[in-house]
Formats: sequence, C-alpha cells, structure tokens
Amino acid sequence: MKDCVIVGGGPGGLSAALVLGRARRSVMLIDDNRPRNAVTHASHGFLTRDGIEPAAFRRIAYEEVLAYPSVEHLQAEVADISKQADGFEIVMKTGERVRTKKLIMATGLKEVFPEIDGLYDFYGKSLFNCPYCDGWEWRDRPMFLLAEEPVILHMAKLLYNWSQDLIVCTNGKPLLSVEERKMLEAKHIQVIESPVVAFEGQNGLLEQIVLADGSRMKRSAGFVIPKWQPKADFSKQLGYAVTENGGIATDAMGRSTIAGLYAAGDAAYVRPSQLIYAASDGYKTAVTVNTELSEEPFA
Ligand SMILES: Cc1cc2nc3c(=O)[nH]c(=O)nc-3n(C[C@H](O)[C@H](O)[C@H](O)COP(=O)(O)OP(=O)(O)OC[C@H]3O[C@@H](n4cnc5c(N)ncnc54)[C@H](O)[C@@H]3O)c2cc1C
Repeated sequence: MKDCVIVGGGPGGLSAALVLGRARRSVMLIDDNRPRNAVTHASHGFLTRDGIEPAAFRRIAYEEVLAYPSVEHLQAEVADISKQADGFEIVMKTGERVRTKKLIMATGLKEVFPEIDGLYDFYGKSLFNCPYCDGWEWRDRPMFLLAEEPVILHMAKLLYNWSQDLIVCTNGKPLLSVEERKMLEAKHIQVIESPVVAFEGQNGLLEQIVLADGSRMKRSAGFVIPKWQPKADFSKQLGYAVTENGGIATDAMGRSTIAGLYAAGDAAYVRPSQLIYAASDGYKTAVTVNTELSEEPFA
C-alpha cells in the first residue's frame, strides 16, 4: 500500500512527487508519457527555464524527483480506478494493480480543435493556443486568431499587443456584434466570418490560410482556441464533482469532493494553466496530502 499514487507525470504530478519524496512518503508516479506540449519545440515563461525544450524539462524533473528513494516511477496507462475502504486501487492497461491511501490526479487536458486541413502540421510550430506561451516569438508578424467562442473578443485585444497585423476569424460563427466589429476594424483588425478550410505552408511554418470560398490570406502564425476536455475521465467510477469542462472540481487546497482524492494542474482547471501554475498547484496539493497523512491516527 503506497502513501500516495500520482497519476500524470507533467509538471503538476512531478512537482507533487518531489514534495512527497522529500517528505519521505512512499509514492508511485504513473505516467503514460504522452505530454500535451510534446508538439512544441520550446516552453516559455517558467522562470530559470525560459525557452527550454519540453523533453529537457521532463528529463531534469524526473532526475530530480527520482533521486528521492521513496519515489517510484511506472510508465503505464491507468485504465481504471476504484475506491476502497482504506484508499484506492489503480489498474493499469496491462492489468498491473497498485493500492494507495491517497491519490493525486494530475492527468492534464486534451484539446479538441475545429476540423481544418493541415492544422496538426503546424500546431506547436507556427499555430498555438496560448499567446503567453508563444506570442513573443511571433511579435509583429502577420498573425491570425481563430476562435468559435465569445472569448474571441478578449483574445483579439490580447493578441493585438503582440502583433497589430492581425486577422480575426470566427470560423463561420456569428460571434461579434456590429459594434465589436467596428471597434476591431478601427484598429485595422480584419474580421472574417467565413470558415477556414485549410492551413498551408512548409516544414511546420504557416504561409497562408484557405477560406471556404477558396480565397487565401498570407499569415505567418496563428492562435487557434480549442475546446478543453480532461485527458483522463474517471468521474463515473469515482463519482467526484466536475468542473464545467469535465475536469476534477477541487477546493483551494486541491481536495476533490471524494475523501483521499486530489487533483492538480490542468486536470483541475476549466481552462489550461501554464507549466509554472501546474508545478505550483502540484506542490500545494502535495502539502495537503502530506498534512492529512500526518493527521491520521498516531499509532
Ligand atoms: C503546444 C503547447 C505549447 C505550450 N507552451 C507552453 C509554454 O511555452 N509555457 C507554459 O508555461 N505552458 C505551455 N503549455 C501548457 C503546458 O504544457 C501545460 O499547462 C502543462 O503541461 C500542464 O501540466 P499538467 O502537469 O497539469 O499536465 P500535463 O503536462 O498535460 O501532464 C499530464 C500527464 O498525464 C499523463 N496522463 C494522462 N492520462 C493518463 C492516464 N490515464 N494514465 C497515465 N498517464 C496519464 C499524460 O500523458 C501527461 O504526461 C503549452 C501547451 C501546449 C499544448
């Protein structure tokens, strides 16, 4: 029986494992090694690691975490989880099982993008979802924004600070009022309501977007806002309360609505966080777990 199993070895889970390893708790960190940010060449905004390759970030983090002898790493996909009287049983896709008193879910999010030809050829290289992560690298370049939700107006204002050569696409959705369009157009931001059918370019570098009427617009980079869903969903098995996108609802200390079950990082958010948020959330949640383990009957 482990003190704590952590499912998900991104910055949220790794940070939690570091704290619990240092607190001498027996920990199993289970990860299927499919990080969401693997498509990108560099991660930005994590103080002391600005511009680091995602794979290097993970390598350093695993080296640090696995230096603590009570932390074990299992590369596996978790297929099922059940609540037991004294904790949880976690079942891997391989059939392997592990039992634990406490469980931290740090399984992240997945993106669901509109179906547009070529999108995945450019995603992470010249198409992104987060301007804080990649806006700086594309500043002052011909940029576009595609979103199918009302957040489009806020995102347009945000991106304008990185590039004033900005085209905003609603992908066929009537999202902006006449006044909002006028406000954007007064800043020379072109608004396109026609759906985008393809992205074209070479070697991951976007050159143009293709609209449904066949017209093409030259662009170097773009931000596409996806819908967010939990990467792993065990809500039926465990019965925890969920956020509006199906993530694990928690209190401010990372506790879910099920005793002994916690969530950290993107798994606990409605919208994605950043690496540093997830790492900080993992730290905080691990402190909650360690505090609760310490408060168990002292026998
Ligand atoms: C293209 C792109 C670029 C980005 N750039 C930046 C950037 O520059 N700066 C920045 O701060 N943030 C960036 N982000 C966001 C950042 O990657 C996330 O905020 C961060 O990784 C969230 O950490 P996490 O630990 O919550 O989840 P994740 O990093 O998503 O980790 C979750 C882990 O859980 C594993 N997992 C899921 N389900 C299971 C299961 N059933 N069994 C076992 N393992 C499972 C996954 O494989 C994954 O390894 C970027 C994201 C993307 C997609």
